[in-house]
Amino acid sequence: METLTNLFTAQKTAHLQGGPDLAARLASLQALRAAVMRYQPQIVAALAADFAKPEAEVMLSEILPVLQEITHARRHLRGWMRGRRVWPSLAMLGTSGRVQPQPRGVCLIIAPWNYPFMLALGPLVSALAAGNAAIVKPSELAPATSALLAALLAEVFAPAQVAVAQGGTEVSTALLELPFDHIFFTGSPAVGRIVMAAAAKTLASVTLELGGKSPVIVGPGADVQQAARHIAWGKFANAGQTCVAPDHVFVHHSVAKALTVALRDQIARFYGADPAQSRHFARIISDRHFTRLNGLMQAATGAGAQVLDGGQVDAAHRYIAPTLIGDTRADMAISQEELFGPILPLISYEDVAEVIARINANPKPLALYIFDKSQVFINQIIAQTASGAVGINLVMMHFMHPNLPFGGIGNSGQGAAHGHAGFVAFSHEKPILTNRFSALPLLFPPYTPRVRRLIGWLARLTG
Ligand code: NAD
Repeated sequence: METLTNLFTAQKTAHLQGGPDLAARLASLQALRAAVMRYQPQIVAALAADFAKPEAEVMLSEILPVLQEITHARRHLRGWMRGRRVWPSLAMLGTSGRVQPQPRGVCLIIAPWNYPFMLALGPLVSALAAGNAAIVKPSELAPATSALLAALLAEVFAPAQVAVAQGGTEVSTALLELPFDHIFFTGSPAVGRIVMAAAAKTLASVTLELGGKSPVIVGPGADVQQAARHIAWGKFANAGQTCVAPDHVFVHHSVAKALTVALRDQIARFYGADPAQSRHFARIISDRHFTRLNGLMQAATGAGAQVLDGGQVDAAHRYIAPTLIGDTRADMAISQEELFGPILPLISYEDVAEVIARINANPKPLALYIFDKSQVFINQIIAQTASGAVGINLVMMHFMHPNLPFGGIGNSGQGAAHGHAGFVAFSHEKPILTNRFSALPLLFPPYTPRVRRLIGWLARLTG
């Protein structure tokens, strides 16, 4: 605890004079980029050690997003830092107003295990672009990646600028007692509540990137092959341990059979006849999560659900086959908990109104995906549901778009990350108003009849 406090104090002291200038921020980002490039083989090895994550997935979903985040921030940083001028209202004539982003100060970044490299460094890029100091707390469930992050960041940054605090809940808890200026948390809604309660004590601002059950709706007008290709990729990449992975699929009864067949084909095409032998399919992160997922599957099948594909498990290797499951009911645990694993319930429906009602009866999801060709169908769902984001005829790809804010709503989070939204999350947008020749003092007391006439006139004009 004492070392964490010392670290925090060192960052606070270094940061008291305001944040670094443009050149220094660009240099920090460039140095981070060079280190990520240099460390690529070690990053691949760490993720293989943590949960057998395939090299191609490490490149695509851990390294590439971080490099893209850095390149995008470097390209736009000058404009982002410039802030913006605002137009005066009638009452504000004679003033000039602008919004100047300033670093929040010393920030805490708490990362989960599922994309342990990208979800630690992505927010850090935004924090550095915005001119902050940061302590990064990686997940203890991905110990090899956590150690690698500590080594990589120590090579690039002085601890007074960026430091890594490794460890589990006890380290998070100790960190959360410190008066950070901003806390950026990625993880489960349950821990999100703990983080927000801790932030309430110091009134630190928070960004919460949480999870939930992201549904897919496959409409009667869907291109079933396209839907199957995207859903199978999104669900089984990282063995389903992705915050924006499709959690379950509502499929119109007219295409339900065709979708099941197409999904089976896709799984075989991606991972072969026996996915356990595939080098392209990851493992479950921990025994606890393996037991949880296996338990959900067993309880569902015990209560009448049907395995439509997969279903094999191997506890010794924390392997769960890509699994399709039908005939689940809303009262089963599999329909209530975020699955976060390679198990995909397929739920047939007749009328999309039922699906909308069911989605709205549950906490707002992080993402919602629609497969259909009808714009009317798509618009109805978008208008009548709430979710962090919507993907149409695709899944998960919105996460990689540098110009789209990424975040949840309600139970799936608050605030946004990525690109400019990430820069804003780590900035205070400070309004600055300068008096040039404002006439407002004409309205100061004493409130003579003439002043009151002027106020009345202004109210009529601006009201
Ligand atoms: P988690 O909430 O268990 O842990 C996240 C972090 O919080 C870890 O660093 C952990 O050490 C720390 N932590 C755990 N318990 C704590 C406590 N009591 N007090 C303080 N800190 C604590 O989440 P996880 O299992 O690592 O990740 C899975 C969850 O994260 C899923 O719900 C998933 O949807 C979500 N997620 C969201 C996003 C997003 O961008 N929205 C991305 C990835 C994962």
